[in-house]
Amino acid sequence: RAKNDGRNNYAFYTESLTQLSLEHLKLQSALYGAIEQNALYLMYQPKLDLVTRKTVGFEALLRWHDPLLGLISPSVFIPVAEKIGLIHEIGLWVLETACRQGVRWLSDGKHFGRIAVNVAGQQLQRSSFVDDVKRVLAETGLPAKHLELEVTESVMMQNPDVAISDLKRLGDLGIELSVDDFGTGYSSLNYLKKLPIHKLKIDQSFVRDIPFDTNNTAIAKAVIALGHALKLEIIAEGVETQEQADFLLQNKCDQAQGYLFSRPQLPQDLDAFLS
Ligand code: C2E
Ligand code: MG
Ligand code: MG
Ligand code: MG
Repeated sequence: RAKNDGRNNYAFYTESLTQLSLEHLKLQSALYGAIEQNALYLMYQPKLDLVTRKTVGFEALLRWHDPLLGLISPSVFIPVAEKIGLIHEIGLWVLETACRQGVRWLSDGKHFGRIAVNVAGQQLQRSSFVDDVKRVLAETGLPAKHLELEVTESVMMQNPDVAISDLKRLGDLGIELSVDDFGTGYSSLNYLKKLPIHKLKIDQSFVRDIPFDTNNTAIAKAVIALGHALKLEIIAEGVETQEQADFLLQNKCDQAQGYLFSRPQLPQDLDAFLS
């Protein structure tokens, strides 16, 4: 009887654990070994100037291929890494790997503009972040003018005063700073004006179905106007169709990134985008 209860309880708890939390437990334990097992790598997606169609840079996008779990999306495992405190180690690995790639391209005489690295909220909040970036630049030898950091709007607005002073120190080094996923968070325009940033990335949710979706079309136009009024460059992400690119160009969006031009690729497959 007692045994049966035990079994039933076990079954009950197993069933009541959501699929999500089970997946998360598996992800958590696998993620601890990911760096050592060489299971992480970076793909690079070109960013193009809409007028000249030339490459102005590449966004480094993290990939995790676990031998048992397969390929896991960064939108799934980055939040897990933040939760279990692994984001600092992973973030540094990404920064170092991207900077080394830049140095390799430089020594091969390939012009890539800037490599953009995504920065998670907890990375920016760490007091050593600016010094960590400086150290990686010094150790890898990548000049700061070849680095861009992408920070999401919600992260910048979480603690805007800290963000302002840290971003200013990074900007003073010559690093370009972009607000990622712009429009999905809540920006105080007052802070946006004070942030030492160079570029707004229009989130792909607003790029979808322009110029046919009238709401998105209005939002995209408004973001371009707002950004330009603040003397910021504007890049649209998730550009998949020629109609989107034409509309963005007509409406003076500066740059674009998306499957229309190129999917994220391995560095050795990017020669067409490296002049
Ligand atoms: P994000 O920084 O906004 O990156 C853009 C995402 O859109 C990427 O997804 C990219 O592959 C995808 N994308 C690019 N062009 C298109 C397109 O034309 N259509 C569609 N549907 N999607 C497109 P990905 O690589 O899965 O990354 C998802 C998110 O994960 C990123 O969003 C970023 O927030 C995060 N992430 C990726 N790598 C890193 C990293 O190294 N560190 C941190 N902290 N976050 C990262
Ligand atoms: Mg990004
Ligand atoms: Mg983005
Ligand atoms: Mg996005």
